[in-house]
Amino acid sequence: MENLEVSSPLIAISPLVLSSKIKQNFFGLTLSDLENILQGMGKEKFRAQQLFKWVYEKRTFDFSQMSNLAKNFRDELPLFIDLSLPKVIKHLKSVDGTQKFLFDVGDGESVESVLIPSDDRLTLCISSEVGCNMACKFCFTAKQKLKKRLTAADIVGQFLQVSLLLNPDQRISNIVFMGMGEPLDNPDEVFKAIEILHSDWGMNVSRKKITVSTSGLVPEMWRVAHAKVRLAVSLNGYNDEVRSQVMPINKKYPLKDLLAACREYYKETKEKITFEYVLLQGITDSIEAARALHKLTRSIPCKINIIPFNEHPDSGFHRPSDETVKAFQQELTFLGSQVLLRKTMGRDIFAACGQLNATYKKKN
Ligand code: SAH
Repeated sequence: MENLEVSSPLIAISPLVLSSKIKQNFFGLTLSDLENILQGMGKEKFRAQQLFKWVYEKRTFDFSQMSNLAKNFRDELPLFIDLSLPKVIKHLKSVDGTQKFLFDVGDGESVESVLIPSDDRLTLCISSEVGCNMACKFCFTAKQKLKKRLTAADIVGQFLQVSLLLNPDQRISNIVFMGMGEPLDNPDEVFKAIEILHSDWGMNVSRKKITVSTSGLVPEMWRVAHAKVRLAVSLNGYNDEVRSQVMPINKKYPLKDLLAACREYYKETKEKITFEYVLLQGITDSIEAARALHKLTRSIPCKINIIPFNEHPDSGFHRPSDETVKAFQQELTFLGSQVLLRKTMGRDIFAACGQLNATYKKKN
């Protein structure tokens, strides 16, 4: 074959143009990501730890104020790294102490996080996607088809922004991926965010205080065990027929496969699984359902979190009466299941996941 020598014309690219193409958001960077960027800039790797310390420990979000770095290095950093956080566009406080935050995540899209205080914890429920493709029949977010998978920076940004708004004596103790979206439908960014959240160079939140909740994307569930964080599974049905009716994902990954993945998680982590179970009037709330649910889950070390349906307009589903909820809980407890009843909180601030986002969009 003929050997062609092609001489490429030299194009002068200004550092600004170059860097704007490769500029990355700081809050989506792991230690090795940052070290790579710094090496590309011709800097020492150990500077990465210094930068993390400034940002995550000292909460300094302006490179020019990082006084132990050389002036020219400080000037160069903003060309490569962006320190902006998702903006809080709405902040609501409920009479019961729950707070809800709406974040701008670009492209005209927004997601919400909910801060839930209880006796001994302060839990932040965060979103992983704008909208969702899992199509669970009772879920408000599912009505908004998937529009965007969040980046790790968007996810870490929710945690950091809420942390910055707390009183100095408050600290988020638990993080649950139970906001908008299916975390295992966006696994790369979710697990990157988890690494940033639990690492000591990052936000230093214990892995045991981070829970990934899934509708049951079986092929990705191993990653929860691999990250050594807690697993919650939205069961919401006591057999395949009922579960497929309310959660179409069950047709693809039926209970047999889902429960096998749960057993595998337990085998690897020795951590109990939380099964979430939404009580839908006339569908999942009978005493027979409680018995079948107990039978289904009794061989797996678990807690069952029962959630009375949070009503939203035109869902076609209803919340059972308090008596029905109590009877369901008592039957499970009587049979020997470990049961938690999730209190409905923040009703006055549109508690059901995705509702604040929709209310905001309607008005704007
Ligand atoms: N996609 C993930 C996480 C988001 S949903 C998952 O399915 O687990 C978080 C939890 O809220 C799930 O257990 C889901 O079943 C429940 N949920 C969704 N909409 C609800 C509603 N209107 N009322 C009560 N629980 C709801």
